[in-house]
Amino acid sequence: MPNRYAENFLSFVNDSPTPFHAVHSAKKLLGEAGFTEVKPGGPIAMIGAHTDSPCLRVKPISKKQCDGFLQVGVETYGGGIWHTWFDRDLSIAGRAMVKTKAGNFESKLIKVDRPILRIPTLAIHLDRQEAFSFNKENQLFPIAGLIAAELNRKPAQPDIPKDSNAPFQPLKVLTERHHPAIVEEIAGAAGVKPGDVVDFEALLYDTQKSVIGGINNELIFSARLDNLMMSFCSVIGLLEAIKPREDEEDSSISLVSLFDHEEIGSKSAQGADSNLLPSVIRRLSVLPCSQGTHQNSSKIISPDTSTAYEQTLSTSFLVSADMAHGVHPNYAGKYESDHRPEINQGTVIKVNANARYATNSPGIVLLQEVARRADDGKGVPLQLFVVRNDSSCGSTIGPMLSAAMGARTLDLGNPQLSMHSVRETGGAYDIEHAVKLFQSFFVHYAEVHKSIIVE
Ligand SMILES: [Zn+2]
Repeated sequence: MPNRYAENFLSFVNDSPTPFHAVHSAKKLLGEAGFTEVKPGGPIAMIGAHTDSPCLRVKPISKKQCDGFLQVGVETYGGGIWHTWFDRDLSIAGRAMVKTKAGNFESKLIKVDRPILRIPTLAIHLDRQEAFSFNKENQLFPIAGLIAAELNRKPAQPDIPKDSNAPFQPLKVLTERHHPAIVEEIAGAAGVKPGDVVDFEALLYDTQKSVIGGINNELIFSARLDNLMMSFCSVIGLLEAIKPREDEEDSSISLVSLFDHEEIGSKSAQGADSNLLPSVIRRLSVLPCSQGTHQNSSKIISPDTSTAYEQTLSTSFLVSADMAHGVHPNYAGKYESDHRPEINQGTVIKVNANARYATNSPGIVLLQEVARRADDGKGVPLQLFVVRNDSSCGSTIGPMLSAAMGARTLDLGNPQLSMHSVRETGGAYDIEHAVKLFQSFFVHYAEVHKSIIVE
C-alpha cells in the first residue's frame, strides 16, 4: 500500500458521496483534532476548494414507469462525462428534511449503501452507432427495478388512509411524487419512518468504492477526485500544520474554505461567488491582535477597524486548490508540449494569460519557497500547467475570489485523468505531496510572504 495519506483519503471519499457528506467529513476531522476557535490577528493563509462534483440529481417529482420498469427522473448537475454513468451500480445519497417529535423539521444526512439504480446501455445488436450519443432526458434515465416486484412487495408501512379531516397539503405527498420504495429507502437511511420524511435532496452516486490501483499501487481509481482530493488535502494540511507548533509568534491565521456549487458557476449562498469568505475575513480582521503569550490587556492591540479588512487582505494569500489535468498517454496531442503534468510528480501550478486561473509570478515564487520548506526541509515537487492556445480552458474559484477580495491568489491542484468522469484516475503519492505542501504553506506563510517584495 502506498501510504497512509492515500489510505485515509479513500475513507474520506467513500464517506463523502455528496457535498453535504464532504462537509460533514471535513468537520469531523477538524472536530477530532479539537478545533474550536480562531487565533486572531495578522495575515491569513487561506486555501479554497470545492466539495461538489458533476452528478445526477433526483427530480422533485421523480416517479416514472415504462414497459414494466420503475424509473426515477433525474436532472444533470454540472458538466459530467455522462456516458460514464451508463452500466454502473448506482445508488442515492444526500440529505432529508424530517419531522421531529417536537414538530420541528431537521436535516439528516442519508446514504443508501446498496445499488438500487442503473442506467442501462442499449445492446450493440440493436444500434450499431460508431460514436455513443444519447438523449440526456430520455436515455440518461435510470431504472429502479420492475413494476411487478414492486406490486408484490409488502410496504414497510401501510399507507396512511385518506381521510377527509387530513390537513391541507400544498404539495402532493412525498410517496406520490416519488416511488414509495425510494422514500422508504431514504427514511431507513435517515433512521425515521417514511411518513416523517418531508422532503429530500438526493444525488446519484456510484456504489463502487474508491481503491488504490496500478501494478505498483501507484494510482487511485475513484469518483469525485475533482475536487474531494483537494478538499481532503487542505483539511489534513491544516491539521498537520497545527500539530508541532509551539512558537505562536510570527504566525498567520490558517483558513480552509470548502465551497459548494463550483461545477455550476459558484453563484449561490454556499458558493465561492458569495459574500461568505469576504465576511469571514472581515470578522477575523477586526479581532484584536494578540502580542505575546499572556492574556494581558495592555498587550492586546486593537486594529483600526475602518481599514482592518483591507490591511488584512493586503498581507494575506489565497491558494485556490482544484484538480489539474495530468498528461493522458492516448491523447498526448491535446497538451501543450512543454506543460504535461505527470501523475505522482507533484502538485500542479496552473497558469493562464487570460486569467482563467489567478496565478502570477510573485505567487509562483511564494509557492516555490513553501514547497522547498515542506516535509521538514526535504521539499515536495511542483509542476506547471498551461493550456494550448487552440484548446478550451476550465476555470476555478481562484479568479472570482481574487477579484472579490483583492487578495493575492494562486491556482493549483493535483494532476488527474478523466476529470468529470464517474470514475476518475489520480496518483496515490500526490495526496501526500499536496498535504505536505499545504502544511508548509500554513506553517511558513507569515515568514515567507515578508521576503517577497513586489512594487
Ligand atoms: Zn474542480
